[in-house]
Amino acid sequence: MNYATIKWTDIANGEGVRISLFVSGCTHRCKNCFNEVAWDFAYGEAFDETVKEKIFTEMQSSFIAGLSLLGGEPLEPQNQEALYPFIKEFRARFPHKTVWCYTGFVFDEKTGMLRETQKNTPYTKDLISSFDVLVDGPYIEELKNIRLKFRGSSNQRVIDVQKTLAKGECVLYLE
Ligand code: SF4
Repeated sequence: MNYATIKWTDIANGEGVRISLFVSGCTHRCKNCFNEVAWDFAYGEAFDETVKEKIFTEMQSSFIAGLSLLGGEPLEPQNQEALYPFIKEFRARFPHKTVWCYTGFVFDEKTGMLRETQKNTPYTKDLISSFDVLVDGPYIEELKNIRLKFRGSSNQRVIDVQKTLAKGECVLYLE
């Protein structure tokens, strides 16, 4: 997997000051996408061990609330495979920090996977269940609303993943 950029002190993509990883590769092609360069899976730099360790090192700062995954599309099948061991290790190292993920796919609260079933992999369920918050759905220009917090268009949901999985129905983190 490649990544397009990393923001080391991001306050726009989740609560608190966060490290945001923008992975490369996205097949949604939303109209007026905010990050079109990251559609290409080969864009940017390799997400290698050096980058992972740098994230883990910076994450130790007490003012960093957690990690946000964006893109591109973190839940494209090949990106799921690459992110799965990284997030697993992140969880083991930083159990008190949060993980937010932004996806253009739609979360299926009944299965804990994606409604776009062709995009589900052996990693999908475990990967999503390790998130605190999932912001789902494609960006739809016609539904754009700049007053919405942590999302661009009103079709997108800011989902409390843990409460949703426990209840088996969608529990929003933010209305
Ligand atoms: S899902 Fe995100 S990165 Fe992909 S096209 Fe839509 S807005 Fe752009």
